[in-house]
Amino acid sequence: MQRDFPSITREKLNTLQVNLGYRCNQICSHCHVNAGPNRKEEMSSDNINLLIQVVNKLDVQTLDLTGGAPELHPKFLFLIKEAVKQNIEIIDRCNLTILEEPGMENLHYFLADNNVTIVASLPCYLEENVDQQRGKGVFQKSISALKKLNKIGYGISDKQLKLNLVYNPIGISLPPEQVELEKKYKIYLFEKYGITFNQLYTITNMPIARFANELKRKGDFYNYTEKLINSFNSMNLNNVMCKNLISINWEGHLFDCDFNQQLDLPLTGKKLHLRDMLCHNFNLRNKEIRVGSHCFGCTAGSGSSCAGSLQ
Ligand code: SF4
Ligand code: SF4
Repeated sequence: MQRDFPSITREKLNTLQVNLGYRCNQICSHCHVNAGPNRKEEMSSDNINLLIQVVNKLDVQTLDLTGGAPELHPKFLFLIKEAVKQNIEIIDRCNLTILEEPGMENLHYFLADNNVTIVASLPCYLEENVDQQRGKGVFQKSISALKKLNKIGYGISDKQLKLNLVYNPIGISLPPEQVELEKKYKIYLFEKYGITFNQLYTITNMPIARFANELKRKGDFYNYTEKLINSFNSMNLNNVMCKNLISINWEGHLFDCDFNQQLDLPLTGKKLHLRDMLCHNFNLRNKEIRVGSHCFGCTAGSGSSCAGSLQ
């Protein structure tokens, strides 16, 4: 059995995934960044400006905005208006309920006008399960937000205004097969609520931060991490997201992925910063990726990434 995660190296950089800060209107039990309404950390204006310069300079295909609730960052709209000029895909990792918050009434129109792809968490199509993981009342607010998005054209066609949903398991199981679960989601959400969406991403829960604490409290930490190790599938190694992505934290530091960011494992062992990406010789291709036991969360079963299963 593979107990040390194999070494892997970087390939062409396609995606910048940026954590704009930890403030969120929700406090989900599986949250791997411990986000919540009282968190104050957010990216400074200087770093937002550096980020725009980096997007302008590098040949990346995708700017993936996350948090917390990224929409709560005061420069969220400004950043999107600047990045969209580069004609790249912009992803808003949206928790849906943010679209129902006071002051956010027009946000969905802004996202549509700028052709922002929405990747939205909906860990189940059943109300009880969603509210258990994400808080009471979250399911109904999410349904209301999804209807609003459908109404302005999100999730209708594969060509524009993409709306992708994210499933993650409740408890210590691995996600089921993505294509089959997507079919179930599509049938249930359409028949019950008239909701449509593009793709479902199944994501494995990472045993770090708040989810790790919950596992420890319930005495499940060891069983879960053993399950991830025992389910190692080497076929997934070529497709792990860190090969083509740089994750940037709210302070502008660079990491191989959002999980390494939360574990404070800087990229290549050095604290590289956004400003280093502006150097003429910045190139991480073929550099070793910082791996650890948590990486088995990406390779277990069908594999997992921010864009769903790896197979
Ligand atoms: S999982 Fe997402 S929505 Fe839930 S607390 Fe964390 S950042 Fe907020
Ligand atoms: S946890 Fe991060 S570094 Fe490890 S395999 Fe997954 S994406 Fe790559």
